[in-house]
Amino acid sequence: MNPRRPSKPIKIGSVTVGGDAPIAVQSMTNTDTRNVKATVDQIKELEELDCELVRVAVPDAEAARAIIAIKKGISIPLIADIHFDYRLALAALEAGCDGLRLNPGNIGEADRVKAVVLAAKERSVPIRIGVNAGSLPGKADPELSVAQRMVAAAMEQVRLLESLDFDLIKVSLKAFDVPTTIEAFIDIAPRIPYPLHIGVTEAGTLKRGIVRSTVGIGTLLYMGIGDTIRVSLTAHPREEVIAGYEILKSLNLRQHGPVLVSCPSCGRADIDIVKLAEDVEERLSKMDKPIKVAVMGCEVNGPGEARDADVGIACGKGRGILFRKGEKLRVVEEKDYFEALMAEVEGL
Ligand code: SF4
Repeated sequence: MNPRRPSKPIKIGSVTVGGDAPIAVQSMTNTDTRNVKATVDQIKELEELDCELVRVAVPDAEAARAIIAIKKGISIPLIADIHFDYRLALAALEAGCDGLRLNPGNIGEADRVKAVVLAAKERSVPIRIGVNAGSLPGKADPELSVAQRMVAAAMEQVRLLESLDFDLIKVSLKAFDVPTTIEAFIDIAPRIPYPLHIGVTEAGTLKRGIVRSTVGIGTLLYMGIGDTIRVSLTAHPREEVIAGYEILKSLNLRQHGPVLVSCPSCGRADIDIVKLAEDVEERLSKMDKPIKVAVMGCEVNGPGEARDADVGIACGKGRGILFRKGEKLRVVEEKDYFEALMAEVEGL
């Protein structure tokens, strides 16, 4: 695994992104931003899951104004997502957003971007230059690949912001196509000193979206690229936060609550290991301890295969073995598998 690419840290509200700061997990609400209660309720739910940054869509002036009330009800920094109308960016800044996301493909002329940058600078609010493959500015140059065009669009905006003496910058380059996304980030990574927000856009519904996002985000993180991640899913944003942490945990980049090791089950298993693993996962999801818990389908291979688990159960026919770091603790009756394992987990 490559060391993390050095970047210039920025502060979005209370959260540092880039530098040596932990790779931040973010999500975006799917409520109507003008509905303050629904938006605050959803953000509170994301906060419970340790979402660290949240973005809200700002489609009109009313949504921009709603940021004032939303901010009062939440604890994590809020980023305003702006498309098309630079005046909404100004209104969102006025309303107290902690970060801005601008799409260079549709925000318009340099003068408009300049007005936003000056207002953001006054308030020390960072701007993400969020390039999307689906909305690139200008005419397509047949000489350039989509990834190269995405990088060119981002670099033009970066230079514009730098020319205004603004460096609270974060950049993202997202496409639905995973290789395009990866190529674009690899291309831009050595060219700029700013933190990178990585993700695969319009990735899809829960299962397929997680796979696409994990391939894209995971590949980049393994290469040392990425300072904050969003797993874009056509699902409740809580799933994005859960998936985000799972990706970071699987690369040992963050610790976040327990890790469940469960075997895929095979002909040696005598019980419904899927059900037991799901029950254990559900209970573990409410815990903060950074422990490794194993649910294994047989006594023959289970304890050995999950040797590094802090605690685990290897389920045999009618009776199973509770083990710790591969060492047998005691024999447990089948009806007690779940409770015995959880009691051991609680005691750690
Ligand atoms: S632990 Fe046992 S049941 Fe599970 S996959 Fe391995 S051999 Fe099969």
